[in-house]
Amino acid sequence: MLTKASITQSLAEVRRRIVQVAVCSKRDPSTIRLLAVSKTQPISNLEEAYQAGQRAFAENRVQEWLEKAPSLPNDCEWHLVGKLQTNKVKYLDQSVTMIHSLDRFSLLETLNEYGERRKMIWATLVQVNIARDPAKAGLMIEEVADFLNSVGDYPHVRVQGFMTIGAVEASLAETREFFRQLRCLRDTLQSRKWSGVDLRELSMGMSGDFEIAIEEGATLVRVGSRIFGSRLESLTELTPMGS
Ligand SMILES: *Cc1c(COP(=O)(O)O)cnc(C)c1O
Repeated sequence: MLTKASITQSLAEVRRRIVQVAVCSKRDPSTIRLLAVSKTQPISNLEEAYQAGQRAFAENRVQEWLEKAPSLPNDCEWHLVGKLQTNKVKYLDQSVTMIHSLDRFSLLETLNEYGERRKMIWATLVQVNIARDPAKAGLMIEEVADFLNSVGDYPHVRVQGFMTIGAVEASLAETREFFRQLRCLRDTLQSRKWSGVDLRELSMGMSGDFEIAIEEGATLVRVGSRIFGSRLESLTELTPMGS
């Protein structure tokens, strides 16, 4: 396990790489946000990251988020990046900054219902299964336009972009192609004017491929192990939230 000092160092290194790759890709580094994926990490590690200036954290299980969020100062952002079960939506409120895993109509309906009750609007990303990996969540590319067409019927949900997870065994070249396809989908659909939809964000790239994701247009990169070291249990993004 990494020592406390090295979380600070790793974070600085990841930030340095983000700036470097952004500049090389002729992008403004301030248009790329680093989310520290803190799933399975103890609070002390999140506090260390907070001390080093990190404010945006991402969790993949509702239960874990519920336990951790109150322990950190309330200027933190919390992004939910894991499969979200509809029966867990009742635990969420405005302290969730963004839900990255909107992947089905039933979740859209449930979010809308609780958004109405809480008098709030959820910021979401539609998860797209670019790799067409049967083990992964997300809409198929060809389903996305229909889905976005319905978002206007659910006024308590806004879609702000897309999220994808690369395939586990993909080469870096294949991963780049997946990211490129997501960006291309975004560019194609951006000109359509759907209510409740503004496709400004692309959440793509993790520890192994965030540099490629930035080169291909990512605005949100989700980095866990490169900041915190390896996870304490073997949990993957396939683990349903709160299970
Ligand atoms: C765990 C996880 C990450 C971070 O993965 P690392 O390889 O540790 O950077 C990013 N996105 C999702 C959806 C995850 O579940």
